[in-house]
Amino acid sequence: MNNSNDAVVQGTSNDAAVSRESAARLGYINDPFIRYFVKRPQRRAPLINRGTHSRFDGMQRIIRQFVRKSSSKCQIVSLGAGMDTLYFLLRQQQEQPWRIFEIDFTEITAKKAAAIYKTSALRSLLPQDMAVAKGGTELHSHDYTLISGDLREFATSVVPKLMARGFDCSQPTLFLSECVLIYLDPQHSDQILDWITDNMKHAGILTYEQILPHDRFGQMMIENLRARGLELRGLHAYPTLQSTSQRFLDRGWHSAVAVDLATYHEKLVCEDEQSRLAKIEFMDEWEEFRLLAQHYAFTFAYTADTAPFNSMSME
Ligand code: SAM
Repeated sequence: MNNSNDAVVQGTSNDAAVSRESAARLGYINDPFIRYFVKRPQRRAPLINRGTHSRFDGMQRIIRQFVRKSSSKCQIVSLGAGMDTLYFLLRQQQEQPWRIFEIDFTEITAKKAAAIYKTSALRSLLPQDMAVAKGGTELHSHDYTLISGDLREFATSVVPKLMARGFDCSQPTLFLSECVLIYLDPQHSDQILDWITDNMKHAGILTYEQILPHDRFGQMMIENLRARGLELRGLHAYPTLQSTSQRFLDRGWHSAVAVDLATYHEKLVCEDEQSRLAKIEFMDEWEEFRLLAQHYAFTFAYTADTAPFNSMSME
């Protein structure tokens, strides 16, 4: 990947934040913080807002279980965190893990650090020991660390930074990849997973990524992204629900379960919530929503049969 490709990939963090802000402003999801990271808000179409709701709900479901069921020293590592507001959401609701580490390209972490620093509603939720570091591109504190780095150099440059900030390989750790590993060559994302397999005592991962490149809709999705200079590099190596979970089992992980967004929306978003959503906006593009949602999937996997992972589930 060259630098101009990197710039396009970095731009996806703004797309994700704009969609999140649209869903939050309309009341689909409860995220009072995302607006501080979006310069030019846009109202997304109802089917995108629905998708954002299920995406947010699914990620939060696993994350909250992890924090609630863990003993005191649990860690979250968000790979390619973009403008995710997770730390602030958990902090506001007093459901914090021991430590949260976020990693992204320097260009993104610099923007995020600046937005946090200049916004008192965000800064006031960070601990007293929060320090701006590395020329304004990182934030360091005892429970929140924003690190700049390239995930393609995970073991050699990201891990040393994590270690320097107190990351502990012996503590239960949940890694997150929300539309991130899919942008890496499989060889690079495999290196991250292999590092986790070889070095962590007990770890889990929650991914949310595109699947099904081969049908008509999948081809269209790929072509649309390609027109913007974006390549889903991991998609052909792990194209189906089965292969996204098998990837972890092949590495000897204890468990891996994948569920697509259409199934999640239909079966795992409860009836009360469905009727609440129906009142926000009228949506009649159900066929299109189903097609779109079948092309995204959550995968939750963990390395060993230990708590808290063995009592967590997407359901
Ligand atoms: N996870 C966030 C979310 O869901 O809101 C952001 C998702 S955005 C689609 C993808 C993010 O991954 C971007 O912020 C991008 O900069 C980051 N990313 C992609 N490749 C990366 C790499 N090699 N190193 C660091 N970050 C990377």
